Amino acid sequence: MIEFIDLMAQYRRIKSDIDKNIEAVLKYGKYILGPEVKELEQKLGEYTGAKHVITCSNGTDALLMPLMAWGVGRGDAVFTTPFTFIATAEVISLLGAVPVFVDIDPDTFNIDPNLLESAIKKTISEGNLTPKAIIPVDLFGLPADYDNILRIAEKYGLKVLEDAAQSFGSVYKQKRTGSLCDAVATSFFPAKPLGCYGDGGAIFTGDDHLAEKLFSIRAHGQGNAKYENVRTGINGRLDTLQAAILLVKLNIFNEELISRKRIASRYILLLKDVLKTPVVPDGLESCWAQYSVLAKDDGEREYLRNELKNAGVPTAVYYPVPLHLQKAFSYLGYKKGDFSVSEYVSSRIFSLPMHPYIENETIEKITGVIQSCFSRT
Ligand SMILES: *Cc1c(COP(=O)(O)O)cnc(C)c1O
Repeated sequence: MIEFIDLMAQYRRIKSDIDKNIEAVLKYGKYILGPEVKELEQKLGEYTGAKHVITCSNGTDALLMPLMAWGVGRGDAVFTTPFTFIATAEVISLLGAVPVFVDIDPDTFNIDPNLLESAIKKTISEGNLTPKAIIPVDLFGLPADYDNILRIAEKYGLKVLEDAAQSFGSVYKQKRTGSLCDAVATSFFPAKPLGCYGDGGAIFTGDDHLAEKLFSIRAHGQGNAKYENVRTGINGRLDTLQAAILLVKLNIFNEELISRKRIASRYILLLKDVLKTPVVPDGLESCWAQYSVLAKDDGEREYLRNELKNAGVPTAVYYPVPLHLQKAFSYLGYKKGDFSVSEYVSSRIFSLPMHPYIENETIEKITGVIQSCFSRT
């Protein structure tokens, strides 16, 4: 059977170390903020080059906490992409701020910096909202266009919070995800490139002051003493057990990245003549959280997905509805046609199985099904 993401194959490989680490935590019983949490934060810092690492409960809280620390709230505008998972924009509205959507680049599926600058100018000239921050998303593992995004952010005095939920391990011009923006949020949800066995996340930053605030926000706004609370915070900690699991997975992460890259190249080679395969701009490296292709229209997508399903190949659609058309954001007043690239991509995109343990013959089987669909027509 072909898995979309085969976590059991990975577990079979690392079972003895995982079991050993879990057992160690259970033996001494420091379930909350045990020593594994600090150790993981230190190792993640070494891996990414980030000065500070604040692990946390999930990727959504990793996005929420920096916005809280920056005081983002009512009357503020935060610019982001409508072609992402709901969490990216949800945290903005949760704080009472307004998500201002900006359409994506058709090749990378990431926020288009040219449109970003015009959206900021428009928000300023309308005068109802104060621009505060930008949340670019590194969709499917590919870093957004940070040279341009950071230049625009500096010009307008905006913070940049990178949604790296899908891009842990990716590289933007020699820099690993985690060291590029004011704050970087990642997720350790099981299906992400570096996943734990439950919910988990982390924030990376080079800003001492922000890091201090984030540690406080993670623990109910704690001050210097345990029951001193200096701000409104959340219960945002990562479980010791999850840290113990991630420590094992981090050890094999680079090998897994190499494997993902090999699989992605193989897919590209075998599919580029029949489908629009992913584009990786020069100087960037994707961690290939997902391998997503574009069919020529909705009908072709349904046909291909159905043929794949009949052949025992699971596929998925990320994302069938862009956020500006979701009911949750209907209060923002967007309508169909507002972000035509996101809408175009939503109706054509689908993702193929992607994980480090796909055998070559499985790739041939998957791509063979797709190729035969085209040779038939
Ligand atoms: C998974 C994901 C999140 C949220 O992460 P959780 O750990 O599930 O809370 C946020 N943004 C993007 C783009 C994601 O893919």
